[in-house]
Amino acid sequence: MKTVYILFLVFFITPFVNIQAQGLLSEKTEFTRQDTLRGSITPEREWWDLTYYHLDIKVDPENKFISGKNTIQYKVLDQDSVMQIDLQPPMELLKAVQNGQELKIKHDGNAHFISLSDNQNVDEVNELIVHYQGHPREAVKAPWDGGISWKKDKNGNHFIASSCQGLGASVWWPCKDHMYDEVDSMQISVNVPSKLTNVSNGRLRRVDQIGDTKTYTWIVKNPINNYGVNINIGDYVNFSEVYDGMAGNLDLDYYVLSYNLEKAKEQFKQVPMMMEAFEHWFGQYPFYKDSFKLVEVPYLGMEHQSSVTYGNGYQNGYLGNDLSGTGWGLKFDFIIIHEAGHEWFANNITNKDVADMWIHEGFTAYSENLYLDYHFGKQASAEYVIGTRKNIQNDRPLIGYYDVNKEGSSDMYYKGANMLHTLRQLIEDDEKWRKILRKMNVTFYHQTVSSKQIEDFLSQETGIDLTEFFNQYLRTTKVPTLEYTINKKTLKYRWISIVEGFDMPIQVIINDEDMWLFPKADWQTMNLESKQSSIKIDPDFYIYSQKI
Ligand SMILES: [Zn+2]
Repeated sequence: MKTVYILFLVFFITPFVNIQAQGLLSEKTEFTRQDTLRGSITPEREWWDLTYYHLDIKVDPENKFISGKNTIQYKVLDQDSVMQIDLQPPMELLKAVQNGQELKIKHDGNAHFISLSDNQNVDEVNELIVHYQGHPREAVKAPWDGGISWKKDKNGNHFIASSCQGLGASVWWPCKDHMYDEVDSMQISVNVPSKLTNVSNGRLRRVDQIGDTKTYTWIVKNPINNYGVNINIGDYVNFSEVYDGMAGNLDLDYYVLSYNLEKAKEQFKQVPMMMEAFEHWFGQYPFYKDSFKLVEVPYLGMEHQSSVTYGNGYQNGYLGNDLSGTGWGLKFDFIIIHEAGHEWFANNITNKDVADMWIHEGFTAYSENLYLDYHFGKQASAEYVIGTRKNIQNDRPLIGYYDVNKEGSSDMYYKGANMLHTLRQLIEDDEKWRKILRKMNVTFYHQTVSSKQIEDFLSQETGIDLTEFFNQYLRTTKVPTLEYTINKKTLKYRWISIVEGFDMPIQVIINDEDMWLFPKADWQTMNLESKQSSIKIDPDFYIYSQKI
């Protein structure tokens, strides 16, 4: 999700955004020790592998206060004695306990180094309990500037939700806050005032009445990334249906504010349509055991795994707007389609380092046009993705900075999508392309990966060496430009604005005839039939051209 907000702003205040982007560029090349502690696989993280969390908390809406504990189970990979747990102030890590013994903690900003006194033997699965409390950072503009949103619904009931992409889950609960290591399964217990309901990830196991409060316990049976874990608290009503999917019956569960029930029943008809299109293109929904939920929240939305959050106002488009300007963007509810697309790209296949977040946003932005392709045809799909090019700024590369928790440009959305649309043209076989996307979701099922792994996989599966293709589109801001000249009956052409070795072929129409050109960095020559020859470049390729 995240940086779509920036795209949205572009329509209205482009100069401001450009200035801001330049500011970010100069600012973000300098990183602090805290950035490194947050963004790298430190020695205090590397020696242990997460297996299970039980997050057990009480949420006090009146005082905007969270307190509780997290039980952390882990497998010892290498003997060590210091463990890094992350929790961002003003939340306080109160104590850490192992085998009944309270442990020493050295606090260092967001990182907390816990000295373990028991031996940590390789292959053992051990358990640590951390207790914490505090007034968590309040979301300023969720989900982009996240934290906890403490809102009220129209009836004056509390309406509360967490969102923490980029910022990190440690803004509201103590965890190993790095993308590379997903916990294998999780239990989430949330105590709230009796008249409210808490919806988290996975399936509801039980509800316990405790005085005038209730504890909702949710079970997640699949690996989950930190920012995917969420709490949503409100005056919810629930409706559901069973989808006959690729892997059998899939529960689709919806939690919406009581007064939005009828609107939701209408708008959420797009959920089975989404499931049908995405299982066709990407293979089976990756979390059958945990079901699929759509949960209304007081902000736009987020790809929380198996409890995708929704705040698009029960309307099509992106808050009613078409990001492509072609009309096709109003044929679907952007938040339902985009955020659910992330179940395959972000939640199933997850980046190890947010520098490679284009894997999440590029493929998911691309999924918007594959949804259109499935329901409205190939032409609609192409027009949409080409239409979104106007959002591309080419300000910074798609890949960000490694080991400091810094993603690349917001171009990861629509430049990413257009790069993949260009790749589809190179493959020239839609069925093969679909099989590759499906195989990708099997090969990297429930894994965290690097961009390099995805690039190598696509090179191997397409049979095309895509090394320079990805170097060009992911690691530079340069758009490959076809420079050409027609002199009498001779066409001369070459690539400029490219990385060394970039030699992508492109499709052109010359005198009404489709053909491939094979430009390189040096001039190529082709004989034409007549002096009046016309040349048109296939708009499906994200390139520039200039006649000289
Ligand atoms: Zn997204």
